[in-house]
Amino acid sequence: MINDVQSWPVARIAQPIEPIADSVPCGEVLKRLLDEPDRPGLPVIAGDRVLGLAARSRLLQIFANPLHRATCERRPIRLVMDAEPMLVQAEWDVDAVSERIATDHRKALHEGFIIVRGDAYVGLGSAQDLLDLAVAKARQSVRDIDRARRDAITASAAKSEFLASMSHELRTPLNAILGFSQMLELDIGGALPPRQREYVSHIRASGTLLLDLVNDILDLARVEAGQSDLREERVSLSTALEKCLRLSGPRIQAKGHHIIVECARRGIDILADTRRIEQIMLNLFTNAVKYTPDDGSIRVRINLDDIGRPGFQVLDNGIGIAQEHLKRILEPFARVESAYVRETEGSGVGLALAKQLIDLHGGTLDITSTLGVGTVVEVRFPAARLIADAPAQSA
Ligand code: ADP
Repeated sequence: MINDVQSWPVARIAQPIEPIADSVPCGEVLKRLLDEPDRPGLPVIAGDRVLGLAARSRLLQIFANPLHRATCERRPIRLVMDAEPMLVQAEWDVDAVSERIATDHRKALHEGFIIVRGDAYVGLGSAQDLLDLAVAKARQSVRDIDRARRDAITASAAKSEFLASMSHELRTPLNAILGFSQMLELDIGGALPPRQREYVSHIRASGTLLLDLVNDILDLARVEAGQSDLREERVSLSTALEKCLRLSGPRIQAKGHHIIVECARRGIDILADTRRIEQIMLNLFTNAVKYTPDDGSIRVRINLDDIGRPGFQVLDNGIGIAQEHLKRILEPFARVESAYVRETEGSGVGLALAKQLIDLHGGTLDITSTLGVGTVVEVRFPAARLIADAPAQSA
């Protein structure tokens, strides 16, 4: 834990110097100060109450002049002491004291200051000791921050490891559920009555959804744990899109969406990980399909941007996303709270995973949206990933 202000009180540097009475002659005070060369001064006290500070610098100045010396030597210290020395409460933090010296009490730099608890004298403080304490505090803070940073890294790695192993544990029984339900659907164990067949198909559909989610979480955990390497090869963005459209076909038809594809005449090929690119495209395209009410229109553009970066845009005229949610939805499990979203199946992992996979390729993900109007999601990869000699393709 990072030390709070209270843990560095100035009391830690209080020198318990024996104070003097205000009647002690100046000559005697100077003699004592000469015997104790580390003291910036001596506190002048009556009972427990601080009357002033006999500063070494002031006395040396007086005694340097023979005339003043003669007059002061036997006079009581109260005549030359600083009657308004800097008083510091023992529990004040070292930084607060330094700040006060810098702004209001510059003389304390050479005179020192008196540390009190309430009105009672505790000890004398010097600028040198204060500086040492401030340095010790700064060092401690650096150590604390470093420890906190290392703890956070360990905790994050532990979380990713936990997610990865949980996902593994879940995948095995899920695959069994899917396998057996498929066998039942295929009547391998004998024909099922229609009602039971319907139930089995529900089991398989839910199992498939759950498996997709588990796979997404596993992927996300792997990327976050830095265990995900890219298998780079030539990827045609339009081929990836064709696959995505094929997989989304039933959903698009069910919602009656109108799909428009715009692709540069010479197709765009990039150096990337095919499976990852397909995953990114599918996640973003599926969102456009899901979050656009029936009979909507979705446009996908595969192109180079103004500065030659290859990538694609998915534009929909769906429910849109309010400005204040745009950042948050990139976090794992974040979903916008609305009736439409609640009724739409989803876990909030898709965008987070897409973002991580795009980052892994050194690319960018930008979302612009207007609530009730639609959303534009743009993915750009570094220009260096473009493979320039892409074979000609029809638009
Ligand atoms: P999921 O779709 O599984 O909830 P995502 O991570 O893909 O998770 O998306 C997070 C949230 O962002 C969604 O729940 C939805 O609220 C919002 N969202 C994503 N894409 C769109 C879109 N094209 N239009 C409107 N809202 C969207």
